[in-house]
Order: sequence, then C-alpha cells, then structure tokens
Amino acid sequence: MTSSRPVDEVKFIADHNVGKLAKLLRMFGYDTLFFTAKDDNEMVRIAFKESRVILTRDTQIMKRRLVCDGDLKALFIAENNSKEQLLQVLRALHLNRFKPFSLCLECNQPLIPRSREEVKSLVPIRVLNNYNHYMECPSCHRIYWQGTHWQAMTEKLEDFKRRVVMAEFES
Ligand SMILES: [Zn+2]
Repeated sequence: MTSSRPVDEVKFIADHNVGKLAKLLRMFGYDTLFFTAKDDNEMVRIAFKESRVILTRDTQIMKRRLVCDGDLKALFIAENNSKEQLLQVLRALHLNRFKPFSLCLECNQPLIPRSREEVKSLVPIRVLNNYNHYMECPSCHRIYWQGTHWQAMTEKLEDFKRRVVMAEFES
C-alpha cells in the first residue's frame, strides 16, 4: 500500500536498536525521533499520535495489533549495517526527495542559517577563515559548516541516491 502523503512529510520514530539509522535519516532531512526508553507501549503511542513510521529490529513490535491492522506503519529492519538499513527504508517507502543538512543530527531540530559574523565566537578561527556558510541547531547550538565533513557527507548522500535509483530501476 502506498501512502498518499508527499514523501517529504514522512516522519519516523527509530527504536533504541537502530540509533545510527536515525542519524542517517536526519542527514537526509527526515524528521526522526530516536526512542531510547524501554517502554514499547510509549513508542507505539507516540508513533500513532504523531503519525510516525516505526523503525525497529524488534519482531514483537511487528506483531502489535495496530501494526497488523494497518493503523500504524512499522518497518522491520532486517539489515545489520546502518547504511544498508537506510537503503532498506528509502527503498521500502520509495523516498527520493531529500533535504540534506536541514536537521541537527543530534537533536532532530531544524537548523537555522547563520552568517560568518554570527558564529565568529563559536567556531575555530581556521574554520572561520575558510568557510562562509553555517547552520546552527537552536537546541544544542551545535554549528554545522560546509567543510570537509560536509563534503564527505554530500558524497555519501550522492552515493545513496545513486543506489536508491538503481534499485528502483532494477525492481
Ligand atoms: Zn542539536
């Protein structure tokens, strides 16, 4: 069954057993709560209330009535490797419209663009001298900049995009 909502609006809640996957989804711009508590009922409740897709490696979650009845969408994550897990999610939900670097990887908060002037006391001087574009997380105040890390992430994103497109083509 395909969802009628635009892909950009897909939101997730990642179980405690898929934390790396949660970060990767945020990197792509997907709103992903990371559920670290042990209470499965609470996770299911939040997912239902906020229309989030559950991502889990716990087979018990998949047996929940809400999931079986189709009232709540959950994906059982079969892969061990976090990158393969990400591919599994993107393929399963046919996601290909990404908004990279729009969310804090740590807190899932939308990032706010900052000028060099605004971050000058917050980043190392060598960074300030080399980069013009910055983003700040309003929650943890982590600063992101378009440095080598950014470049590495962009390459990773491009690689993922290629692999998702290839998979669509093959299926
Ligand atoms: Zn943050």
